[in-house]
Amino acid sequence: MSKYNPNDIQILAQKVVEIVTATPEKGQHIGEIEQAMRERFQEVGQQSLQMLLEAKGQAQKRTLACECGGTLHYVAQRPATVITVFGRVRYKRAYYSGCGCGKGKAPLDDEYRLKPGAVTIGLSNLLSLAGIQFSFEASCAWLKEFLLFEVSENTVRQETERMGELMTKMEAAWIAQSQREDWLQMRQGQNEPVAETLYCAIDAAKVRTEPRAKAGQPKEPHEDWRDVKCLVWFEAEEVPLALQTGRDRSKTARQEVPRRAVRKEYACAITDTTQFGELLWATGCQRQADRCARPVFLGDGAPWIWNLVQTHFPISSGVIESGCKQIVTQRLKLPGAQWLVDGAIYTAKARAAWLSGRWQTLCKQRAALPLVI
Ligand SMILES: [Zn+2]
Repeated sequence: MSKYNPNDIQILAQKVVEIVTATPEKGQHIGEIEQAMRERFQEVGQQSLQMLLEAKGQAQKRTLACECGGTLHYVAQRPATVITVFGRVRYKRAYYSGCGCGKGKAPLDDEYRLKPGAVTIGLSNLLSLAGIQFSFEASCAWLKEFLLFEVSENTVRQETERMGELMTKMEAAWIAQSQREDWLQMRQGQNEPVAETLYCAIDAAKVRTEPRAKAGQPKEPHEDWRDVKCLVWFEAEEVPLALQTGRDRSKTARQEVPRRAVRKEYACAITDTTQFGELLWATGCQRQADRCARPVFLGDGAPWIWNLVQTHFPISSGVIESGCKQIVTQRLKLPGAQWLVDGAIYTAKARAAWLSGRWQTLCKQRAALPLVI
């Protein structure tokens, strides 16, 4: 059962119609009407969010306990601005200070993980979704049409990289887990489903990195090319009849079974072979590859790939396939792209998370994390 009264929505809708039709220069054709309605709903969203934050941000107490053990005192309802999916929202909320440690606190900001001047988690998810698909510059133009307001290239870059940082942390946890003997043994007795045949394609591609230095780090002397190593775990299944292409049908005519990769999970890194081997093993364990009867490895024949495969999965043979195309070629190698190493890898890892169906997991983690100020 709906928790709100549908009549309330009707009242709101009627109001929007009145507002839109009262603007004489708009409403000439359906495109203009749609645009005008989107703009008004945007304003409704901004004001609703402002009202909600201000209602929740009322001072509840005169004093609060400070993290240092001291006491914070209520000062005033102080203004702040956040950038939301509806655009900039300015709101006032209770602010406390006056503790000996010098820190201040706005409990509402902590509760909703709002950082004044920054984007909300809801908007961040949308910005990073654009940032893993398009160049950051193109993302801004594309986002403006959808969001109806502008965000800077740098904001899209930051939010995209933040998703990649989260993915890096998740992978670090997997790596630590996959190196614990007790964890590995405990899994052997479990009934987690294991694919009959599991494939892993491994390859690498070069990305151009730029000499621009990050604060506090020495400047790199000149532009450089770095290897991004990629892997993708997948299973293969027969292409459903409805999805078969001309090529698939000609395979069927030759008595071959047209197959496609499904349940794909990507990972990538700019690291040495040993560390990449740890990622290979860790992601493989997540996928139950160590319990799979037939893991099949596919590579482009570079010796480092086959050394890794031999080290971790001494049973195996394969044919040629590319996992890099999805991540490196389609995003990191867009025309004119030049990267700082961290930016390249975080963007690549964020894209890998999306392609692996892990986006919602990352978004949930993001929402649960304390803010880094
Ligand atoms: Zn304090």
